[in-house]
Amino acid sequence: MRDSSVGVYVHVPFCERVCPYCDFAVVAARSLGRAREDGYVDAILLELERRMAVFGGRSLASLYLGGGTPSLLQPASVARIVAAVYAAFPPAAADRRVEVTLEVNPSTLERSRLPGFREAGVNRVSLGVQSFNDEVLRRLGRAHRGDEGRRSVSACREAGFDAVSLDLIFAAPAQTLPIFERDLAEAVAFEPEHVSTYELTIEAGTPFATAAARGQLAVPRDPDQQIERSLAMMGVAEARLEGAGFRRYELSSYARPGFESVHNRRYWQRRPVLGLGMGAFSTEPISPETPFGSRRANPRNLDAYLTGIAAGGLPEAGPVEVLDAKTARGEAVFLALRDVDGLDAERFAEEFGAPPRAFWDPAISSLVTEGLLEERAGSGDLRLTPRGRRVSDSVCECFV
Ligand code: SF4
Repeated sequence: MRDSSVGVYVHVPFCERVCPYCDFAVVAARSLGRAREDGYVDAILLELERRMAVFGGRSLASLYLGGGTPSLLQPASVARIVAAVYAAFPPAAADRRVEVTLEVNPSTLERSRLPGFREAGVNRVSLGVQSFNDEVLRRLGRAHRGDEGRRSVSACREAGFDAVSLDLIFAAPAQTLPIFERDLAEAVAFEPEHVSTYELTIEAGTPFATAAARGQLAVPRDPDQQIERSLAMMGVAEARLEGAGFRRYELSSYARPGFESVHNRRYWQRRPVLGLGMGAFSTEPISPETPFGSRRANPRNLDAYLTGIAAGGLPEAGPVEVLDAKTARGEAVFLALRDVDGLDAERFAEEFGAPPRAFWDPAISSLVTEGLLEERAGSGDLRLTPRGRRVSDSVCECFV
């Protein structure tokens, strides 16, 4: 796919403490300390310089500081990163608004830093509220409680960012349907521009996986019951948020019109994203050698990342993954189906030489007949039906 823009993701791995369900690349750090923070930001900026050989000449569409807990950084550090990324990738037009998102964690948010983040160029904050219920937060092992979440949302609102996004978790231990409904109602009352709803998944190797294996998590043990519970919560989220004026523009994401996440959409549309920092992934632009794209990952170990940068190179977690046509086709469909706009059949045909029917004719016919997939007459564009969204995983399996 031809695309002359870039999204930049900066991973800030530090967290006050590591939540027992977390599978991200994180490092426990109660406070960063100036030298450690400067050292990490220096490494990010060196990596940026070295990645220009592949990403240079592109215009900036979005910058996302995620983690971990990027709000642990000082505003001056965020300003350094923002300035360097803008200098590396000047936006296409001077007046074009680039989405600059900072993930914020209620337990570590110092209100006094918020104006500094805004001055640094952050225009969107994504707040990891998860729930407003103290018992749910306690069982999740989160460092904050409901009141801190509420105060943080208010502080972000008052700081005047263009957009505030709230993350809510569902299917968590001890989280009943009425509790989740109250979480949704509270979230809506704060009038955010965007809400993401994530199902708790139990990742192998986490303390939650051990507790689940021992039957110590307060979630249904019967997988069918667990699925029923998740589907019920998903349905409630959709009804409550759409009723409040949000559009479910992606399976987990709801936005008021015009506030869809520019950065996250790049992943679903398979547009180039430069990932900087420990554990970050890059989706590289296509080239004659990689006509279907390639991906690379940085080491998930902080020392390995910093040492690799200090040695003058680009530390890699493993070999670059060069996508073949079959893998890229499958990914193009299942990522596009996450988005409410679905798959653009013409764009797909431009990239892969033939429309989706040429590769999955029987599967598309049967999914359409079952009422899980909608195929637009004439264009052949595909998208999930409301029923298809409820079983999106099994629909997507038909294309990989
Ligand atoms: S705050 Fe988020 S990134 Fe940090 S440990 Fe908890 S779940 Fe993981």
